[in-house]
Amino acid sequence: MVKAKNLVKRYGSNYALNDVSFEIGEGEIVGLLGPNGAGKSTAMNILTGYLSSSSGEATINGISILENPIEAKRLIGFLPEQPPIYPEMTVLEYLNFVYELKGCEFPRGEHIGEILSVVKLTDVKDRLIKNLSKGYKQRVGIAQALVGDPKVIIFDEPTVGLDPKQILEVRNLIRTLGKRHTVILSTHILAEVQAVCERVIIINKGKIIADARTEDIVRTIEDGYCYEARICGPTREVISAVKRINGVRSVDEAGVRDGDAAVINIETVGGSDIRRALFRLCVQNNWALIGLMPVGTDLESVFIRLVDRSERPDSSRRGLKRN
Ligand code: ADP
Repeated sequence: MVKAKNLVKRYGSNYALNDVSFEIGEGEIVGLLGPNGAGKSTAMNILTGYLSSSSGEATINGISILENPIEAKRLIGFLPEQPPIYPEMTVLEYLNFVYELKGCEFPRGEHIGEILSVVKLTDVKDRLIKNLSKGYKQRVGIAQALVGDPKVIIFDEPTVGLDPKQILEVRNLIRTLGKRHTVILSTHILAEVQAVCERVIIINKGKIIADARTEDIVRTIEDGYCYEARICGPTREVISAVKRINGVRSVDEAGVRDGDAAVINIETVGGSDIRRALFRLCVQNNWALIGLMPVGTDLESVFIRLVDRSERPDSSRRGLKRN
């Protein structure tokens, strides 16, 4: 549905995008994740036709955004970071205005009524936009992206500046939209991708450093898992016994004892699952295993590892690239 092929965007000698390629299928919800300056907005602006690339091609449903911009843009709804809303209009006036702007041909009342209901704005449709809370304004921004029922919806940092309740509402809304649309979401918030996206494309310094299912990224075991375990036994004996389990790379004391339990960090070798062996070891020694928690596998930690690795000269991305 959305295809970026060898996209390059140069500003002087700097590359905002350096040979970026990806394909997003119909109905996917994909997060474009990266730190500030990574190239996310540049990529979004090229995909939505607001910016031309130095080389490479972007197509929406096979239509080139450069060669057939009007046709391609009809397939895209875009929510920029600053939604283009008019505060002096009511919600309904504004959506009617966008309807005309986009030259829609659906039955107007029905189409706008449906959008109002999806984004839960029906009750405030006659209120001036300037009097709405930031969360509601964001929904108005999402509503304008939905006018014309585009196949692809692109969100640029959709929850910035919202309070936690509003953030949950907007994320739920995006998930709902993902059932009927292809969704691309740009964000620097790792939890957002984890909450909303099935797939994540991680970008850093204009290059894609990972492209995989979100859960695979989170569960990436290339560098092994790290657990914090609480085991009721003498610390030194526990550590030396755990070290002997096949697949354990290192064991350290994690901190003060928790009552009669040793608190240890266990790092495992990539690809091994030591949990059953650890359980059996505890049973054999009559040590109660009162806690086992994965640590350092949240997207944030994985992301930092990936960025670090991509910046190493011998960078290896085995297992995380889709292609
Ligand atoms: P992100 O959205 O991930 O924060 P951007 O796409 O905005 O990143 O920027 C990527 C890189 O391109 C940054 O280094 C930025 O400074 C540079 N850049 C973006 N726009 C311009 C411009 N108009 N002129 C020069 N450099 C730019």
